[in-house]
Amino acid sequence: MTPDLSRLCVHTITTKPWPIEVAMDKYAEAGIAGITVWRQALEGRDIEKVGEALRARNLSIVSLCRGGFFPAKTATGLAEAIEDNRRALREAAALGAPLVVLVCGAVPGQPLAESRKRIADGIAAILPLAEELDVRLGIEPLHPMYADDRSAINTMASANAVCEQLDHPLVGIAADAYHIWWDPALAEQIAIAGEKKRLFAFHVCDWLTPTTDLLNDRGLMGEGCIDLHGMRTLIEAAGFDGFHEVEIFSDRWWAADQDDFLSRIKLAYFEHC
Ligand code: ZN
Repeated sequence: MTPDLSRLCVHTITTKPWPIEVAMDKYAEAGIAGITVWRQALEGRDIEKVGEALRARNLSIVSLCRGGFFPAKTATGLAEAIEDNRRALREAAALGAPLVVLVCGAVPGQPLAESRKRIADGIAAILPLAEELDVRLGIEPLHPMYADDRSAINTMASANAVCEQLDHPLVGIAADAYHIWWDPALAEQIAIAGEKKRLFAFHVCDWLTPTTDLLNDRGLMGEGCIDLHGMRTLIEAAGFDGFHEVEIFSDRWWAADQDDFLSRIKLAYFEHC
């Protein structure tokens, strides 16, 4: 049986050693259907031309990563965060990406409830531009180990609550298996998100035991303990029919041969997702 790769998407950060010009050729040659572009991969490039080059290789541009980091302690910091998110929206539009993923942010010492308010206010502030450009915003709940400085939104329930508050068709959720697999309310919250048409993206990788680095020690699917097939079943039962996006931050895999890594990604996707 030929593996079905029609819904496989790879994040450029997954193969970080490759500049985007190399990654796009390698992904296309490997038969991968989608690409999520990290903003640092676009630095110094003509973004519209990168978008054209991706489309010329039949790669679906799934999303741009990432915006967010709304909370700040000063008014200047808040204004800068909003400006950076507007820039992300313009970059997504130039690239032809329909979605910007939001790592919403947190500031050590700021009460999380206050951070959550700033996040909702920040998203509300960029919504008019998102409407003008017709780009969606995907709130990505982050594992609670990042609640100090990366995100005050740590569960699907918390992401659903912000969506509920903003109640806008362009605001939804990027569900990342790495961040939410442990949640006892997962099935119920995925069902709610699906019912409200808020499931915008699905990211996969695996949770390693032990995890030796909080950021850069994610596993390839099948190396860890996440029931990815079970989560895919929940997500699809909730109506999600988009891409399965492989997003792996890993010093170990980045140090490996990237061609070999990409082959293993395809195999792992077929076997474990
Ligand atoms: Zn993710």
